[in-house]
Amino acid sequence: MAGNLENRHDVLIVGGGFVGGALGCALAGAGLSCLVIDHDDPSAQLDAGFDGRSSAIAAAPRRLLRRLGIWQHVEEKATPIEDIRVADGSSPFFLHYDHTDLGEEPLGHMVENRHLRQAVLASMKTVPRLHHLAPAEAVALDQEGSRVRLTLKDGRTVEAPLVIGCDGRGSWLRSAAEIPLTKWSYEQVGIVCTVRHERSHDNVAHEHFLPSGPFAILPLTDNRSSIVWTEKANLAPALLALPDNAFLEELSWRFGDFLGKLEVTGPRWSYPLSLQFAQRITDRRVALAGDAAQAMHPIAGQGLNLGLRDVAALAEVVVDARRLGLDIGAGKVLDRYASWRRFDSHLMLALTDGLNRLFSNDVAPVRVVRDVGLAAVEHMAPLKAYLMRHAMGEAGNLPRLLKGEAL
Ligand SMILES: Cc1cc2nc3c(=O)[nH]c(=O)nc-3n(C[C@H](O)[C@H](O)[C@H](O)COP(=O)(O)OP(=O)(O)OC[C@H]3O[C@@H](n4cnc5c(N)ncnc54)[C@H](O)[C@@H]3O)c2cc1C
Repeated sequence: MAGNLENRHDVLIVGGGFVGGALGCALAGAGLSCLVIDHDDPSAQLDAGFDGRSSAIAAAPRRLLRRLGIWQHVEEKATPIEDIRVADGSSPFFLHYDHTDLGEEPLGHMVENRHLRQAVLASMKTVPRLHHLAPAEAVALDQEGSRVRLTLKDGRTVEAPLVIGCDGRGSWLRSAAEIPLTKWSYEQVGIVCTVRHERSHDNVAHEHFLPSGPFAILPLTDNRSSIVWTEKANLAPALLALPDNAFLEELSWRFGDFLGKLEVTGPRWSYPLSLQFAQRITDRRVALAGDAAQAMHPIAGQGLNLGLRDVAALAEVVVDARRLGLDIGAGKVLDRYASWRRFDSHLMLALTDGLNRLFSNDVAPVRVVRDVGLAAVEHMAPLKAYLMRHAMGEAGNLPRLLKGEAL
């Protein structure tokens, strides 16, 4: 089926996941016509077998999701994170973040990805000027001239002044625009599952640093918690293949007994862990956002939060340019996006990388240094408050959507 798709779109978005869907809602909600193309069938993305993860959503990105009408679909299924307790193995030193140190607002909320995906798709349906083409796959990119053109697998073409890649870690658009990628593997795997426990978690998230890497216990609804268990890549397959009882035993000694009896509900999932970033996040009439631009270790639960911060900055830059009558795909407009995001994204990549290296080993002198570090942060109120604000996404020059304001 060759031919042209309707070509009145202002923006094409490749990838309609959390980041692409939210960006489409933001841009179309501000009056731009957007076409979101995803290679997966949306109904397959709602299948319980699609994604077993849950995400910690920080305060500022949650304001963006609310402003875009997404949060309202998921609010009742979200669990507030009121405290975070960080412990280094069996060391007596720990770090305790308490939301009341900063005010009333929780430090973040936990949401199961399947619910969040449903919320994004539901919101996308309600925004006029937002067109969702899925399943569909772009196979060629033409950046010549004053519009960028995508050719789809079925031969149809579509063009617009700007195309944005929100197509995740393996971004097709990033490769098609020949943007180099820097990447390294941690030789670690994130084992993810959900557990039900006897006692209430009281909305507290725990991070235990074990020799293989961090073990996070993140509060969900109904006396359940989401586990993100970082394990060495060479050990993970054997753990994942254990019979149910033996897997529960391995999990239980890492988890501890403070929430009573545990039961694993649902399947086990695994995600190879790596750090990667595009060497530039813009090109001729092309921009990247979310995991397509940078992806990191889940140690601080910041990947999606960072992607939503990309959404807020890019949407603001593009909408401001349109209001001034500028070409929204022009280099100067995209440069503003790139320079706005550079510091935040590089800082978070460096932070998650450093934390993972510092805490994923059992070398005695390193253990001493990090325990002194934990104790120091615990007792330095201004530093602790700054770190809490940063994790909540409140630091720096915030775009309007992250402040909960209209675009
Ligand atoms: C174990 C684990 C736990 C995590 N926990 C957290 C957390 O607590 N908090 C947090 O903030 N982050 C967390 N993250 C990170 C977070 O999951 C990602 O940052 C987030 O999913 C990125 O969203 P995205 O929309 O950019 O990419 P994706 O979620 O990968 O979505 C990409 C979309 O693009 C589509 N697509 C891909 N290729 C193409 C193509 N060629 N053409 C068309 N469409 C395409 C896909 O179908 C998909 O819909 C975690 C990650 C891991 C691995």
